[in-house]
Amino acid sequence: MKREVVKPDLDLIHKYDVPAPRYTSYPTAVQFRPVESSGRFSGRLKEMATTPRDLSLYFHIPFCFSLCWYCGCTRIITRDGDRGDHYLHYLEKELSLNSGLIHPDSNVIQIHFGGGTPTFLSPDQLEKLGEMISRHFRIAPDVEYSVEIDPRSCSPDQVESLRAIGCNRASIGVQDTNPEVQKAVHRVQPTDQVRRVVENLRSSGIESINFDLIYGLPRQTPETFEETLGEIAELGPDRLAVYSYAHLPDRFPAQKLLKPDELPSTEEKMEMLYLAIDRLGESGYRYIGMDHFARESDPLSRALDEGTLQRNFQGYSTRSRADMVAFGMSGISQTSSLYYQNTKELKEYYELLDEEVLPVVRYLELTHDDQLRRDLIMQIMCRAEVEFDRFSKKWKIDFKDYFGDEMERLVELEEDGLVHLDNDHLQPTEKGRLFLRNIALVFDAHLKKPDHEARYSRTV
Ligand code: SF4
Repeated sequence: MKREVVKPDLDLIHKYDVPAPRYTSYPTAVQFRPVESSGRFSGRLKEMATTPRDLSLYFHIPFCFSLCWYCGCTRIITRDGDRGDHYLHYLEKELSLNSGLIHPDSNVIQIHFGGGTPTFLSPDQLEKLGEMISRHFRIAPDVEYSVEIDPRSCSPDQVESLRAIGCNRASIGVQDTNPEVQKAVHRVQPTDQVRRVVENLRSSGIESINFDLIYGLPRQTPETFEETLGEIAELGPDRLAVYSYAHLPDRFPAQKLLKPDELPSTEEKMEMLYLAIDRLGESGYRYIGMDHFARESDPLSRALDEGTLQRNFQGYSTRSRADMVAFGMSGISQTSSLYYQNTKELKEYYELLDEEVLPVVRYLELTHDDQLRRDLIMQIMCRAEVEFDRFSKKWKIDFKDYFGDEMERLVELEEDGLVHLDNDHLQPTEKGRLFLRNIALVFDAHLKKPDHEARYSRTV
């Protein structure tokens, strides 16, 4: 018998549907400022050279064969495969510059290829990239090595090459299996195509598979999305990210191609999220936190139970304590006290590397206040309990004194049932897990600026 899905509390949804960051970082990239000189920027990375550290490497492959109309990524549409060779040439330069700045005993524990479309690269190009990385860095034997896959461009040979360089995780962009929705967003990929890619990945030994879905796309209804969820569960990914589509056409011009009157309402979107939680729950997945689901046996699920779940630019992770070094145009790197971002312009990316300088154009040095708020916001986003006493000792503050205003603002969230508060604890409730961004927002000291409304997606 079909279970009734709990209907969303619409009053609460309307009240808390406000623009807010997704908190893959704090402060967010909006706060970054221009570097005075790209040539001198490497001087800020001295701490990377003096002590060995755990590293997470991110590689942005910007090319895509065709444009998806909901796209909000930094990408270049082309069918010219040779552009991959040219780009790899510059990635090698960037690897070389960076490896000279990082302590040689540093250990790479995580690698991620994102985009754009990493599987734009041919099998040979993928192998070349893998070989370049292992030539410049020391890679831990148990490295978590993941790649984002577009099922429309992922041949068995590409899968073999990915496996050969050490890839052990794949994330497939599915979005929605409904043909009408796929047409409306200009991304047609029959479910059989996804199934074949999953089979290829599994038979090559890449066992851990994530699917990305999106709710809130044109022509989606709760009924069509329920069918999508059923088809997806049959394919049996280990993890799912179910993202809310953010319609920001002024920021992402590709979205102007979508028909606004085909977009579902906020209520329908919320119903789709509740459906996802319910139906995926029936199929053995747990809601980890904002947008993410995982099987009970998955390391993300265990990290949630053990309180070791973390969050970084790629979403939830079990290994985010490492410093992140990002390569390729638009990549964002992160150390304990610094964020820095490469240029989003391909021409400038090549030009700066031709000058033998890091292609960094924006950065942010974190203040002590930024660092402690980041720690707190990440705990909230990972649904962890915040113990005031322990947090106070760690950061040498008196929590209730330091966050006096925030504690007052939390009372309303407590009355709405989103957080549990007692003398020494703050914890998001079951209901609050759908409003984690709103809870984190209370502690965001940068969101007093008048322009933030235009920059962030809404929380629902
Ligand atoms: S959504 Fe992904 S595959 Fe589609 S255009 Fe954007 S980056 Fe490329």
